[in-house]
Amino acid sequence: SNALMAGKRGLIMGLANDKSIAWGIAKACSDAGAELAFSYQGDALKKRVEPLAAQLGSDFVVPCDVGSAESMDALFAEIEKRWGTFDFVVHAIGFSDKSELRGRYVDTSRDNFAMTMDISVYSFTAIMQRAEKLMNEGGSAVTLTYYGAERIMPHYNVMGVAKAALEASVRYMAEDLGKDGIRVNAISAGPIKTLAASGIGDFRYIMKWNEYNSPLRRNVTTDDVGKSALYLLSDLSSGVTGETHHVDAGYHVVGMKAVDAPDM
Ligand code: NAD
Repeated sequence: SNALMAGKRGLIMGLANDKSIAWGIAKACSDAGAELAFSYQGDALKKRVEPLAAQLGSDFVVPCDVGSAESMDALFAEIEKRWGTFDFVVHAIGFSDKSELRGRYVDTSRDNFAMTMDISVYSFTAIMQRAEKLMNEGGSAVTLTYYGAERIMPHYNVMGVAKAALEASVRYMAEDLGKDGIRVNAISAGPIKTLAASGIGDFRYIMKWNEYNSPLRRNVTTDDVGKSALYLLSDLSSGVTGETHHVDAGYHVVGMKAVDAPDM
């Protein structure tokens, strides 16, 4: 087959339901011919993830809580057993206590700061430590970030600090893994109504603001993110690593409220 991802095998982490960014990426990769494995956080999600995986012809569905080293070890042992080697990783995981995704950043607790950094930043590094041993040359990894890493966004708070660290970790891993022909990039997605996003204060207002003020005058979809991820995960982006690629309808290049934007 001459399909873009024919013969490529990839791990999708962070699928919760059909609204997840991971689902848009999984569909794009599957449509392009990739064979997929899925990891899910806990038992409650198993019954949601299995039928979605089946829709894309996959019965390779494994639990993995990235807060646990043993759980990550078990996931990669399973991949080694079933596949031996593989080609790409999608890390679409983030978490913070939603009581701190409102109010002031300066009030962040030590416990939630550490937990947010562990689950949202270190997990990608911990996954790549394990993945690199099994990844083929020409491999590619993508994580998900947000503009709140670069600029103040309402209520994003400790998650903005975590995403800044995640983007820095992408650059360091690009250097470390580049020697083995493995690329590491981030997609900075515009706001999308997912389970994780529902924890952020005034999220509807943020989405409206982006819709009215982005150059494309719309919000992005998980399909938009999926198509850009396909580029970063495939050989089309063979010369690209360490990058934060914005899939945000152009919002990050805007300097002020659009003249035609309605009052909010
Ligand atoms: P989502 O709720 O569908 O996905 C988040 C996933 O993280 C879930 O599948 C959840 O199970 C998983 N997760 C959380 N803690 C985990 C743990 N300990 N172990 C394993 N998995 C865990 O929401 P989403 O919006 O698709 O989020 C995916 C990524 O995209 C996140 O990193 C998020 O920050 C990022 N992102 C989202 C938006 C947006 O507006 N939705 C914008 C930019 C970036």
